[in-house]
Amino acid sequence: MKLDQIESFDWSKGDGLLPAVVQDAGNGKVLMLGYMNREALRKTLGEKRVTFYSRSKQRLWTKGETSSNFLHLVDAAIDCDNDTLLITARPDGPTCHNGTDSCFGDDIGTTATRLAFLARLESVIEKRVSERPEGSYTARLWADGPTRMAQKVGEEGVEVALAAVTQSNDKLVGEAADLLFHLTLLLKSRQLSLGHVVAELERRHAAKK
Ligand code: AMP
Ligand code: ZN
Ligand code: ZN
Ligand code: ZN
Repeated sequence: MKLDQIESFDWSKGDGLLPAVVQDAGNGKVLMLGYMNREALRKTLGEKRVTFYSRSKQRLWTKGETSSNFLHLVDAAIDCDNDTLLITARPDGPTCHNGTDSCFGDDIGTTATRLAFLARLESVIEKRVSERPEGSYTARLWADGPTRMAQKVGEEGVEVALAAVTQSNDKLVGEAADLLFHLTLLLKSRQLSLGHVVAELERRHAAKK
């Protein structure tokens, strides 16, 4: 979006304010809805920090001005009839003042958007492995080597199977999370990522068509 497009938007409809949906650039989740006047939108595009016009404060409000949980602008788009903004941003922390990532709660999102976290988990693992911070379980397991990681995957696989037969869904989810984490680490020890596994699943699916 360019600054000179702003005047073509339908500002008259909402008394100089347009609703702005804010989406997390990392996982596609809707974080919040706010309102922008021309000045708020100009400031947002200029300073790359999302700024609204607060109807309760009756002034410009840069999200994060007191909490430091700023929303860093990635992209801005206008809808088909020029009356609603879609802002894509990278949040510094929880967007909601209640402490959740999204104002709509932490449980929103489809399976597809939730799976995006696996990519983030891989980058966290990457960081732990390269920086080896004191007390990091990931760094310790990495130092123990691929045989230890393979052993952990075996153990966690058995724990998943046992939980499926004898324990609650909560326990099963917990063990499955352990398995996915250790599997991700094991794959990394062979310079592989979950992306390679997904690519193989896609290949098999395509072959069946
Ligand atoms: P902040 O902009 O994060 O520094 O928060 C400043 C104030 O804005 C908070 O005390 C809340 O009153 C309000 N606020 C913060 N985040 C939100 C939000 N996502 N939706 C509505 N109001 C908010
Ligand atoms: Zn519209
Ligand atoms: Zn909120
Ligand atoms: Zn376990």
